[in-house]
Amino acid sequence: MNASPPGLVFVVSGPSGSGKSTLLRRVLAADSQVCFSVSHTTRAPRAGEVDGRDYWFVDEQAFRERIERGGFLEWAEYGGHLYGTSREAICEPTARGLDVILEVEVQGAAQLRQSLAEAVFVFLIPPSLDVLEQRLRGRGTEDEDVICKRLVRSREEIHLVFEDGDGDSPLGSYEYVIVNDDVDRAVADLLHVVGAARVARQRVVASQRQHFGFD
Ligand code: 5GP
Repeated sequence: MNASPPGLVFVVSGPSGSGKSTLLRRVLAADSQVCFSVSHTTRAPRAGEVDGRDYWFVDEQAFRERIERGGFLEWAEYGGHLYGTSREAICEPTARGLDVILEVEVQGAAQLRQSLAEAVFVFLIPPSLDVLEQRLRGRGTEDEDVICKRLVRSREEIHLVFEDGDGDSPLGSYEYVIVNDDVDRAVADLLHVVGAARVARQRVVASQRQHFGFD
């Protein structure tokens, strides 16, 4: 992996039902310089999901072969299924100068903390656990057992991020936390994070040095 790819990488995590997919869809529609990193997963597609757009839906054997080949920048098990970010999903767009947004759970984000040190990490939380539960049930895509497991895991993830405010453990080291109580504001918040990262001093200086004749 190129240590400083031309495009920026944004890693967004948050409990199931925190509204990540809606938020990302809106941000991608609002900013044409940002693209979505399509993950691989062994879970079955939900109604309306499209292979190659929402996920690459693969069987476990294909997933494990890709792990063996070192084809994932990170991967994790979630709810009995495997999820992973392929190298191409990040390297290909960033090499073309596009910024990439990934949606990964916290274990995967912790792995990316090691391999993509310059990525920007954002955690999305719901306004409350009650709201999260309502959203998960309202979605109607998972059965009761899955909903209960996801709620337990969501609480653990939020706890982890709250308790590790200093970023001692890679599991909790998110630079930004967005509360998704109002989706318009949450979208604006994430767009601000993206905009601010683009004008970070180090990044601008690196690209402008030559232009100003300082190299
Ligand atoms: P879902 O099944 O609801 O689409 O996703 C379940 C969880 O897997 C979510 O927390 C989502 O952010 C996470 N996820 C999606 N893609 C990836 C990935 O490539 N890697 C990891 N580690 N988690 C992912």
